[in-house]
Amino acid sequence: MLAVNNVKLSTGATMPQLGFGVWQVPDAEATPAVAEALKAGYRSIDTAAAYGNESGVGQAIAQSDVDRDDVFVTTKLWNADHGHDKTLRAFDSSLRKLGLDVLDLYLIHWPTPARDLYVDTWKAFVELQKEGRVRAIGVSNFQPAHLSRLIDETGVAPAVNQIELHPYLQQTELRAFHAEHGIQTEAWSPLGQGGELLSDPVVAEIAARHGRSAAQVVLRWHLQIGNVVIPKSVTPSRIRENIAVFDFELSDEEVAALSTLDRGGRIGPNPDQLN
Ligand code: NAD
Repeated sequence: MLAVNNVKLSTGATMPQLGFGVWQVPDAEATPAVAEALKAGYRSIDTAAAYGNESGVGQAIAQSDVDRDDVFVTTKLWNADHGHDKTLRAFDSSLRKLGLDVLDLYLIHWPTPARDLYVDTWKAFVELQKEGRVRAIGVSNFQPAHLSRLIDETGVAPAVNQIELHPYLQQTELRAFHAEHGIQTEAWSPLGQGGELLSDPVVAEIAARHGRSAAQVVLRWHLQIGNVVIPKSVTPSRIRENIAVFDFELSDEEVAALSTLDRGGRIGPNPDQLN
């Protein structure tokens, strides 16, 4: 098993470039799934208050042989908890459920622009970071306009923006904005939720050439263009397969071939519209 590469965030903290996502994993199933992931070598777990499985994730971390300090834990503030005071309460609740004293990364889950509270929420995030209760703060599903507003009104850029990103939705404009402002791009649904993308002929051809699975080729594409990825699976063999991507490399031509697949193929909600 080869070690997962780390990226350096603007805060100076390091974050594994590949982690384990637990969306749609029920609380009770999250404990064995995260235990399996830790055993397979994952050292980053991505949960959210809205996933309802922070307790299950926390139990797996507590029961594991892996040191707490060797696991990078991310959770997210849900939409109904936007606003300064509600954010502080929601953070306490998440930390309690996770059974942690300090969180590695806290994200605003969605900007929910119609509420118009994400700047107040962000100010509370900045306080939590200053108090040392969270090591890095970031956002999720923020569009360039939302990011610009945070930076203009608070002077603090998010360390990370976690967005839907896969070869069918490459988010070129956002990735360029991130590069300009030192924001790490993190890809959610990196495998396109295991749909059509994994049987795309271009992916299949490259996979056959390397004797690898389609999922592994898509994950390599992400890693080689600099994204952090958090693929999800509850199947032990796939959990292991998805981390076994640090012992081969795509050629520049193969990366370019995958980069031609962009077709604006959004699976999840449009962040400008979700409230
Ligand atoms: P994903 O792209 O990781 O796909 C997961 C699905 O792909 C699995 O359920 C399975 O059906 C399939 N799969 C996984 N490994 C496979 C393999 N090796 N071979 C074939 N099929 C495989 O999709 P996701 O779960 O939506 O996204 C990953 C994580 O991103 C989530 O668990 C969550 O942590 C995060 N996420 C965040 C947001 C957000 O709004 N911030 C939204 C969605 C997901």
